[in-house]
Amino acid sequence: MKDIKKDIRSYTQDELRAYFVEQGQQAFRGNQVYEWLWKKGAHYFEDMTNLSKETRAFLKDHFVINHIRVDHMQRSTDGTIKNAVKLHDGLTVESVMIPTPTRTTACVSSQVGCSLNCEFCATARLKRMRNLNPDEIYDQVVAIDQQSRSYHNRPLSNIVFMGMGEPLMNYNNVIKSIDKITGDDGLGMSPKRITLSTSGVPKMMKKLADDRPKFNLALSLHSAIDEKRVKIMPFNEQFPLEDIKDALRYWYDKTGTRVTYEYVVWKGINDTKEDIDALVEFCKVIPCKVNIIEYNSIDDDRFEQASKQAVDAYERELNRFGFIVNVRRSRGKDIDAACGQLANKS
Ligand code: SAH
Repeated sequence: MKDIKKDIRSYTQDELRAYFVEQGQQAFRGNQVYEWLWKKGAHYFEDMTNLSKETRAFLKDHFVINHIRVDHMQRSTDGTIKNAVKLHDGLTVESVMIPTPTRTTACVSSQVGCSLNCEFCATARLKRMRNLNPDEIYDQVVAIDQQSRSYHNRPLSNIVFMGMGEPLMNYNNVIKSIDKITGDDGLGMSPKRITLSTSGVPKMMKKLADDRPKFNLALSLHSAIDEKRVKIMPFNEQFPLEDIKDALRYWYDKTGTRVTYEYVVWKGINDTKEDIDALVEFCKVIPCKVNIIEYNSIDDDRFEQASKQAVDAYERELNRFGFIVNVRRSRGKDIDAACGQLANKS
């Protein structure tokens, strides 16, 4: 039987050091390999040029470096790039590079498909196949950092976990990937520039609060009325708004940081005064910020972007109560790279 080689990136730095000692070599070789794997993002043992040829061959005989491959890249007229990312087992996810004049944001996936069932999201139509490993998330970030350097002569500045999947349902791997992205042994990015977005899984929001992360949290709210939210986000049945509010209070209590609410306004769904009033009430729960995002069509006639007047009414009313609100325009729509459009269509 053929031995299945172990992915060397599943080793911690200490484990790698110990491995080299076991092989009768010096421990610092483990540091060197670790640095190649994470800081330098090497995908091939051949590239580890400060190791001897023999050591490189030995590692290649005993390990693999599972890694992603950007299979296909689409570039929008606004500069947004959508990557079809092939995983080592042949599955595909998508990641997006979003450039603005001052920053480059990476939008990364955390799962292949999604187990939640938001009616307005294209990813929900793909069933959840599996969670991504920490290195598969990390690699998406590294690939976009390289794209940012080559297209815009600057490193990646921000990361949002708003690609495919529900990050809080792949908790451990997402946290491990962020540790690597922010760690000195990885990319050393500031956690303040990272935002994890959740559809609202109360138990996991509380767990996250307990872990006192330094990154930002966003909640995809879309309606502050249970009966309406359950129609567009059916899992709301299990996680009603009262539980989400409770988790938000817990979050604020532990972390002292505000949460961003993402909100799309749809015609005939959540465009009335009653909806606005409910959101205003919801905003009183903890310090927050509202991002009103544009609906990106996924070929479903139940959903249509609300009128400018309806969005303006939200903005006015939230402002009147002193809440921070941003109205966001979508990017990358011409290549189906905008929020909720990721469905491996390319
Ligand atoms: N599961 C996580 C992260 C992925 S979705 C979450 O729900 O937050 C990223 C954002 O895109 C969410 O705010 C989601 O509600 C939004 N979204 C999904 N489909 C959309 C669509 N068709 N148009 C605009 N935003 C959409």
